[in-house]
Amino acid sequence: MNKDFFKLGIIGNPLSHSVSPIMQIEALKSVNLTGSYEKFEIQTNEIEKYLNFFIENNFTGFNVTIPHKIEIMKYLTEIDATALKIGAVNTVKINFDGSTKGYNTDIYGFIQGVNGKIQTIKNATVLGCGGAALAVVFGLEKLGCKYVTVAVRNISKGEKFVSDLKNKTDMEFIVKDISSLNIVEDTDILINATPLGMSGNNENEIPIGLNALKMAKKTMLIYDLIYNPSKTLLLEMAADMGFQFVNGLDMLVYQGAKAFEIWTGFYPDVEKMKQVILN
Ligand code: NAP
Repeated sequence: MNKDFFKLGIIGNPLSHSVSPIMQIEALKSVNLTGSYEKFEIQTNEIEKYLNFFIENNFTGFNVTIPHKIEIMKYLTEIDATALKIGAVNTVKINFDGSTKGYNTDIYGFIQGVNGKIQTIKNATVLGCGGAALAVVFGLEKLGCKYVTVAVRNISKGEKFVSDLKNKTDMEFIVKDISSLNIVEDTDILINATPLGMSGNNENEIPIGLNALKMAKKTMLIYDLIYNPSKTLLLEMAADMGFQFVNGLDMLVYQGAKAFEIWTGFYPDVEKMKQVILN
């Protein structure tokens, strides 16, 4: 085995639009390491087979994306405490003895997107209740948040999401209908964790309207997890109304940087990683 060559990759489906390969190759270059990063677009029933393939072929580690973040957990030797708590793994490290450990770096990525832009977070509103919203909720807890409004189109899904969180966090939750939502004055941060606004079919959509924001305080941070386009219609509106805002690029790049550090022991140059994606 060549210990100076890092064999890396990603499993998920679909992966055609994944920017992880260019981002992680840039990360390798940024700290003068050599290696590869390959895409493996696989079905859920192939996870174990590919995990064995990675072990046998001396991979250092790999990323896991939708829809495999939960299923992968049952095949790993060990799971780090944060990933266990959230119930999803996005990064796997393969040790020299062939044992494997799962981590979740999405929470770290989300937090880095907030850092420095807002001092105190007590109240938050999260739009959507899918996988990204789950990482957001645990990130909010780490940021000191106490109250979370989860705004959804399907109330029973929202209630299930919140009830699954009851024993995992001390935060208090309220579920609301996204179509009749008003962002109230004590909300410190509003996060879009829906695909509305994303390039493609949803690009001309906005998860909430202008009226929903009319009662919000002007110091509220609007955080859209979408990074393509870099300014969604929600963020255009945020800018026009004078709110501070952030897109999902930091979350994407920092989750990748943390994964890279887990695999190699080196923290890469995040600015170079961002730049290669923007280019
Ligand atoms: P997901 O698991 O499919 O969840 C999507 C959520 O959005 C669900 O709650 C879904 O509701 C809701 N939703 C979908 N269409 C909607 C609509 N028309 N009106 C209202 N709600 C709607 O997806 P995900 O993985 O959480 O990803 C969500 C977004 O975050 C995507 O835009 C993704 O690109 C972004 N993301 C960014 C990063 C990053 O690093 N920046 C990381 C992960 C995800 P139903 O359950 O009712 O369908």
